[in-house]
Amino acid sequence: METVTLRAARLVLTIACLVMGSVRASDHASSAISPDEALRRLEAGNERFASGKTEHPAQDAHRRQELISGQSPFAIVLGCSDSRVPPEIVFDQGLGEIFDVRVAGNVLDPATLASLEYAVDHLGSRLILILGHEKCGAVQAALSLSKGASAGSPDLDSLVHSIQLNVRGDHLDDPLLRQPVRHQVDGVAQDLLKRSNLIRKKVDAGEVRVVRGIYALSSGRVAFWDDSLASSDSR
Ligand SMILES: [Zn+2]
Repeated sequence: METVTLRAARLVLTIACLVMGSVRASDHASSAISPDEALRRLEAGNERFASGKTEHPAQDAHRRQELISGQSPFAIVLGCSDSRVPPEIVFDQGLGEIFDVRVAGNVLDPATLASLEYAVDHLGSRLILILGHEKCGAVQAALSLSKGASAGSPDLDSLVHSIQLNVRGDHLDDPLLRQPVRHQVDGVAQDLLKRSNLIRKKVDAGEVRVVRGIYALSSGRVAFWDDSLASSDSR
């Protein structure tokens, strides 16, 4: 015969297991969303935005309540700080869906890289989008700054120099700067896989995908391109 105390102890243990199990499941809910499905969601949201059919999903009080217990964003976007390219708006997404890392020129530094690793390792996000945009001021500064000149401060110089490494040989002849912006995105994607063992291992295992994109200011559309080069370049 079980004592009342023993039964009570078992009940507490069962409840504890259920609660812990549900927390774990919710913490890693986004792992169930494959990289391809995550990309499809971004593409569909951008199509709604560009065609004027936005739904503004998941932005109400109910959604805020859902997210009190935690977040599991289905995608990570490393984008530019430019006020014209906020990821939630251009991909028509809501709260808790995109883990944003925004910095001028979408450059990679220790803090941005750590942020990407955190979202992959702790939040379970499986798609990383490196997102550049037309007429990026940071890329323009990198192309315009003559050798030996300063961008205005040591930190601005550091940011601009990191972009210059990726846009060598490019020119300012295209006012939209599409080619140098794409080169900057390519360089950041490749650098990411070289510098982060954590992310590269998951990419090589097919658990995480890195894609690249450029946002068109006029149409509002994001053109994505293949990520296979980034993976092979890392080896
Ligand atoms: Zn920019």
